[in-house]
Amino acid sequence: MGGSQWRAERETQGDSGVSKPDDILIVGQGLAGTCLAWRLWDRGVKFRIAEKGGRRGSSIVAAGMMSPVTGRAMNPTWQVDRYLPEAMRFYQTIEKIVGENFLHEVPVLRLFSSEKERGKFEDRKGKLEQWTAEVLDRVGGGVHGEFGGVVWKGAGWLKTQRFLSASKGYFREHGLYEGREVSAEEFMVRKGTTILCKGAAGLGKGAFGYLPERRAKGEILTVKVPGLAEDRILSRNGWMIPRGGGLFRAGSGYEWNDLTPEPTTAGREKVEEIVRSLTSLDYEVLDHMAGIRPIVRSSQPVIGWHRENENLGIFNGLGSKGVMYAPGVARALTEHLCSGSALSDELDVAGLDVEDEGAA
Ligand SMILES: Cc1cc2nc3c(=O)[nH]c(=O)nc-3n(C[C@H](O)[C@H](O)[C@H](O)COP(=O)(O)OP(=O)(O)OC[C@H]3O[C@@H](n4cnc5c(N)ncnc54)[C@H](O)[C@@H]3O)c2cc1C
Repeated sequence: MGGSQWRAERETQGDSGVSKPDDILIVGQGLAGTCLAWRLWDRGVKFRIAEKGGRRGSSIVAAGMMSPVTGRAMNPTWQVDRYLPEAMRFYQTIEKIVGENFLHEVPVLRLFSSEKERGKFEDRKGKLEQWTAEVLDRVGGGVHGEFGGVVWKGAGWLKTQRFLSASKGYFREHGLYEGREVSAEEFMVRKGTTILCKGAAGLGKGAFGYLPERRAKGEILTVKVPGLAEDRILSRNGWMIPRGGGLFRAGSGYEWNDLTPEPTTAGREKVEEIVRSLTSLDYEVLDHMAGIRPIVRSSQPVIGWHRENENLGIFNGLGSKGVMYAPGVARALTEHLCSGSALSDELDVAGLDVEDEGAA
């Protein structure tokens, strides 16, 4: 089985896991909790994962995209050299273990919005060379690509729902999964280690309510565009991800004031605007979902310990890039849990209290 290979690879490198903390409870089975569970499983650490179910967590709504370069400014994503290849390898390994496919390696076609933007790319293309597959003068075929675009390589998307459900099935089969809500009364007094991976529900209030946060709602549509034969991810102030058979996932805006979980008419209109800005072809909306991104500091995740409860940890803040960051950050947390290695300053939640932020 792929799983034993994963473990075996490490064992041949002489790492036997050193000290193993027992009885870890992971609360939440989104991308954070699931990746952490796989990392602990790989190290042979005893754990359970509890998921309350019900409303869709952000990971289920996510389009699953991983892109090495993002944003209007076309900057390489934070620590992309480290986290992107690691994420690709991680998902490929889990695919082998569970015998399902959920990773799709697909380039991103970043369309320029004007000659000026194209010029901006030309000015900085040296810095982006590593991720540039080709630069196109014009893109047609139903795509609004009159100013051309650049194709980023090394990108892809994860079918997050499949990844989560296959992982859940695996852990359930091994007696490691509990379908229940874990209350604050339970985890605040628990003797063993508890890691809260509650996503947006774990920010703004509750045990880690003292952290700064800037959760953002996002809405996403599934659209059918029968004439669009594009198999790359289209991107420019939003994105469309090809799912096969003329279907695309399209998104997504950022809304900071309304953090209700329901999709809205205004949200749908914003995403439809994105669709119309990317393609000139007719489309039909088949599905509409909303989710709340768990943001602590931009898309930079946080891990570490509660300021007063030494048994209580957190893995959160995956922002809008959970698919890329979750596997690598879960590894860092697992190493810390297993061998006591220090958390890096850039991930450690310590010192991130709201009061400190204000003073900084
Ligand atoms: C519209 C939209 C599009 C996105 N697109 C992308 C994308 O293309 N690429 C990308 O990388 N990221 C994307 N994201 C961001 C991504 O969804 C997040 O980074 C990621 O899902 C966060 O994962 P998480 O595990 O921290 O939180 P969640 O997925 O929210 O998981 C938390 C889980 O904890 C459970 N839980 C909470 N409280 C309890 C409790 N007390 N007991 C038990 N269980 C509990 C919840 O039910 C939930 O399942 C998108 C987000 C949105 C909203």
